Amino acid sequence: MIEKDFSRALELIDANLSQIRKKVSSRDFDPNKVAEIEVNDFYYEGKTVPRMMVVLRATGCQHYSDHQGCSMCGHFEGTTSTPVTVESYLEQWQSVLDGVIEDKNGTNFNLNDFPILCIYNLGSFLNPKEIPPEAGRSIFSSLNNYPGIKKVIIESRAEYVNPESLKNIRDVYRGTIEVGIGLESKNYTIRELCHHKNMPDLNEFTRSIKCLHDYAFKALAYVNQKPPFLTEKEAIIDASETSIYAFEQGVDAVSIEPTSIQSNSLTDLLTKRDVYRVPWLWSVIEVVRGIYDHFGNDHKMDLRIGGYFDETVLSGSQGVAPGVKRNEIFPYTTSGNCPDCNPRIIEAIKEFNRTYNPEILYSQKKCQHCYPQWEKEITQEEKRTIPQRIINILDIT
Ligand code: SF4
Ligand SMILES: [Zn+2]
Repeated sequence: MIEKDFSRALELIDANLSQIRKKVSSRDFDPNKVAEIEVNDFYYEGKTVPRMMVVLRATGCQHYSDHQGCSMCGHFEGTTSTPVTVESYLEQWQSVLDGVIEDKNGTNFNLNDFPILCIYNLGSFLNPKEIPPEAGRSIFSSLNNYPGIKKVIIESRAEYVNPESLKNIRDVYRGTIEVGIGLESKNYTIRELCHHKNMPDLNEFTRSIKCLHDYAFKALAYVNQKPPFLTEKEAIIDASETSIYAFEQGVDAVSIEPTSIQSNSLTDLLTKRDVYRVPWLWSVIEVVRGIYDHFGNDHKMDLRIGGYFDETVLSGSQGVAPGVKRNEIFPYTTSGNCPDCNPRIIEAIKEFNRTYNPEILYSQKKCQHCYPQWEKEITQEEKRTIPQRIINILDIT
């Protein structure tokens, strides 16, 4: 029965995602222009430093084309159906090296001023079908001319981390490279059903960590907080336990990713049906507390809080599809409390990311408007199994 429920739940998630993805309209972006350039602060070796995030205009994550992608992810919207050639990737990259923002409201910049550089492709940089190895090599090779860059961060699903994909880059660039891998949850049912991750074997994750270290890369684990179908409390426990697990497996850093709502994702559909709420920021603080309580407050760990909290967009307009005001991957709702305390808690989260001092989070005054509601919410229990919940919510035929 349990297995039957699991299969039925997975079938329903597949079917719903498939319907949702079909609604995405035009994805014909200029393959010669980057999707986005953003700047924010980052904590690195005891200091707050500026970070630049470049989002390449790419063809997107293979998990989308193969299995409709993850339930909370709407990155697909920012990818182009137009094939992106090696030449196009390099033309995009040249515009970054030139530091010229075409958008008239944008600011020109110099990569050397950014000790942390993220190069994202809304998918897996290490998948040769997404970023041709030749393009990856050229991009990394060019970074040798920028001694101001201290760490480069890319992202990849675990299955594309292998000696060949790592050597391709390592052979041309000796600097620090961190690879962010979506672990999301250590729990099989949560990862495979709630996240729709398609990483059934956790050994894939641990293998990728070891492989990264073998080639002197750093490993970053992304842990999504509150996929659909979990209670607020379950989501806190899952994100804390998963982060602890990731550190114990030897990752160099963990980024907690509280769910934001991007258009045309399963979380978007469920939010509109009023059966999902993004995680509370009070809950994000509890996840951090759970991790620090486990390792001890004096433990020096690289723990970040991700999510979309008002980065400075240098060149958003390059990423805006015709007729769309905001960047197409920008969520319309981020995790939050109430309008009264959101600005204060978001500022505290940013300050935590700049300092890695959890006391900043713990010392936040309880909000008289929403804290009691949150306290009530975390006592709510759910007796149904996760597959049963999914069947009840999605099986509306
Ligand atoms: S979260 Fe990552 S792995 Fe999942 S669909 Fe989005 S880009 Fe792909
Ligand atoms: Zn509040």
